[in-house]
Amino acid sequence: MNPLKKKIEQCGVLLGGDVLKVDSFLNHQLDIPLIETIGECLANHFKNAGITKVVTIETGGIAPAYATARRLGVPVIFLKKSEPRTMRQPLCVQVFSFTKQKSYNVCMESGLIEPDERVLFIDDFLANGEAFKGAESLIHQAGAHIAGVGICIEKRFQAGHQYVVGRGYDFCAVASIAAIENGTIHWAQ
Ligand code: 5GP
Repeated sequence: MNPLKKKIEQCGVLLGGDVLKVDSFLNHQLDIPLIETIGECLANHFKNAGITKVVTIETGGIAPAYATARRLGVPVIFLKKSEPRTMRQPLCVQVFSFTKQKSYNVCMESGLIEPDERVLFIDDFLANGEAFKGAESLIHQAGAHIAGVGICIEKRFQAGHQYVVGRGYDFCAVASIAAIENGTIHWAQ
């Protein structure tokens, strides 16, 4: 069993509605050696994909995106969940949040991703794929190519996995949950 799955079994907390709380190592406090291991695993998977930039969404995706990008030797862009007044030409798109059950805007300064770049999207979770769809729209608006999708924890029983794989993206999840039943996590093979 890989270190992320072990950590989830030891320290993850299952909340109602298929939400897994990982605040003690990924979403609030960061377990640095674990984040580095996640970065190593994702960078290894995408090392030959010609990635020129990593894109994530603040805040949960930033640490694993950083750990992956520093190994690939490329910058990270974190999409912002609001439109800061400092942005001169924001590209924005609406995303429906699985955990908060409401919509929010994600924004990126236009020009940060150049046309023809090869982008790797990284996030902490993949659930219904709404966050990814928002990032996908912004990356495509910038004229760039999505060369991979790397996820720390995917809940394969939700719609995001099918969406990402169905679109033909190179996909890697460090921990894949097939089902959550009666407070028990079943791992996908
Ligand atoms: P999606 O957009 O794929 O439905 O959900 C992905 C986003 O929602 C992630 O960026 C993550 O912040 C949040 N999320 C989805 N499921 C979970 C979960 O089970 N636990 C936590 N902590 N966040 C989640």
